[in-house]
Amino acid sequence: MKLELFSRIMDQLAPYRDDIAYIVLNGCGEPLLDKKIGDKIALARSRGFAGIQLSTNATELRDAVGEGLLEAGLNRLIISIDGATKETHEAIRKRTNWGEIVDNAERFIARRDAGRYGTEVWIRMIGQPLNDHEWPDYEAYWSSRIDPDRGDRVAYFRAHNWGRESGIEGAAPKEAKITYCEDLWSRVYIHADGAIALCCVDDDGWFEIGNIRDVDAVEMLNSSPVFLRHRSLMASGRTHELDHCRHCVVPLTREQTNYRQGVRAR
Ligand code: SF4
Repeated sequence: MKLELFSRIMDQLAPYRDDIAYIVLNGCGEPLLDKKIGDKIALARSRGFAGIQLSTNATELRDAVGEGLLEAGLNRLIISIDGATKETHEAIRKRTNWGEIVDNAERFIARRDAGRYGTEVWIRMIGQPLNDHEWPDYEAYWSSRIDPDRGDRVAYFRAHNWGRESGIEGAAPKEAKITYCEDLWSRVYIHADGAIALCCVDDDGWFEIGNIRDVDAVEMLNSSPVFLRHRSLMASGRTHELDHCRHCVVPLTREQTNYRQGVRAR
């Protein structure tokens, strides 16, 4: 997303800053590939947002990049590592280098500690059959390297599908009837071109909801026929009538974490 557009969004949302728990600077992509990521963090800070977070695969989390995130005032960095061993992590996250990622994460923590920066570090595993057995070792290893007093965590989130029938192996089974999804009631997803998406798994722009350049995001969340229809059907137990939601296990996986994304910035 261009910095100019991001700036417009921050201006638009600034009046709601006290009610916005987090500005999340990643969609389904890798935010550290964005050369302007530090500028965006600083910009969000300058508009008074306290909670600013992003999640990364840490491949690009080299010293200078990490320094930039800390200096810009990032509130929380979530580092995705999916195994306690090289074999497991690299079997899940193809074309990554487990050793380099672990090194990048540890160096970032050391830099954060040395500089007394306020950035929380969460090390997060996406749980699935390939790595479930490694969770105890993973949790023990990373617990010895983080600092809970600074808000750090070793976090766990279950693998989920993407609002489609097919999913990835290990996605939470859809046993429960879904009558609520945070995305429909309390989150706004904005694509890089400004288009408002339905939710976190709507990578393709399933609906014409509007573009942030032309509409107010909060007004759209409150009045868009797309959101109103989804809320109404879901809340009345008719999720099976919704094309994407009827296949989706995201709300279920949110119940299977050892954390909640909604935790407010400190
Ligand atoms: S249930 Fe899934 S597809 Fe439906 S709004 Fe929530 S995240 Fe999106």
